[in-house]
Amino acid sequence: ICNAAAAEAPPAPAGDGVGERQDLRNIAIIAHVDHGKTTLVDKLLLQSKVFRDNQATSDRMMDNNDLERERGITILAKNTAIRYKDIKINIIDTPGHADFGGEVERVLNMCDGVLLLVDSVEGPMPQTRFVLRKSLALNKKVVVVVNKIDREAARPDWVIDRTFELFMDLGASDEQCDFPVVYASGFSGISGHDLKNMAPDMDPLFQTIVKEIQPPVVKQDAPLQMLVASVEYDNFLGRIAIGRVMNGTIKKGQQVAVCSVVEGEGAKTRMSKVVELYAYDQFNKVSMEEVPSGDIVAVSGIQDVKIGETICAKEAPVALDTIKVEEPTVSMV
Ligand code: GDP
Repeated sequence: ICNAAAAEAPPAPAGDGVGERQDLRNIAIIAHVDHGKTTLVDKLLLQSKVFRDNQATSDRMMDNNDLERERGITILAKNTAIRYKDIKINIIDTPGHADFGGEVERVLNMCDGVLLLVDSVEGPMPQTRFVLRKSLALNKKVVVVVNKIDREAARPDWVIDRTFELFMDLGASDEQCDFPVVYASGFSGISGHDLKNMAPDMDPLFQTIVKEIQPPVVKQDAPLQMLVASVEYDNFLGRIAIGRVMNGTIKKGQQVAVCSVVEGEGAKTRMSKVVELYAYDQFNKVSMEEVPSGDIVAVSGIQDVKIGETICAKEAPVALDTIKVEEPTVSMV
């Protein structure tokens, strides 16, 4: 009963919950190793004051998160979320390596824009080209962050020129080449829209993220569709499906249909159940009763769940995934 033509569905009439989640942003950070991603995200977390503001809700956190909390916030192997004023910003981890099978596309498709972090001395490095190229091809908004601006040898103009050339090289559109720039030092905790007016905090960077990266567009009243972008394994919970709730609301305990389109086999559907449901907050997964569309969630209980499957309302089993699998013969730019 599944079909993969969800993208061709007629536009929904007004007043049915179609709109923007102004309280949410989904971003990815593309950075060459050592260009300061961990330090910058640490600083953003620190300044988001989420911990202090949310202490009243911290009892909702999973017990085994104590361990993660102790381990500290410097491990960015997973997704995280920070808060700026009333806005939650999900930071989606991107696989840094060049891979196949649409993994990078699926992860990038969870977000609406990316931060390209570039060292103020070294400039853009070849290893970030692959993910940047994919981001541009998927038409994601790219904000360039010239990082480590405190370095003595910083040459921001040169770095921006090189970055611009890289965009041109990768076939970016005129609009994409007109990228917003923020200068920052995660280390010193400063950021600014121009070098003469650096703020002693991350506010200018936060402002730029909120302004330049569009809020998720959601169909809140539509039946649930969650696209599985990655799968993690937990000793207690088993396979955990991670992805963005594209439409509707996902609920803990909900019976769902899991849909996929298998090449040569057509559409497939099986019934399953959301056993545990989590959203991200700071460096924790937070247990939730329900999560509306636009947000990134982690779900346990879906047996044998695979990347690319769609978790749907059982009444409306429609697969979402339309990403073409890239063959290993395709050259890496
Ligand atoms: P990642 O590999 O991109 O996550 O980079 P890290 O955040 O681990 O930083 C790599 C190195 O650069 C570390 O030695 C940091 O102390 C240093 N570093 C990070 N951010 C800054 C910065 O803003 N300014 C300077 N001068 N050094 C930084």
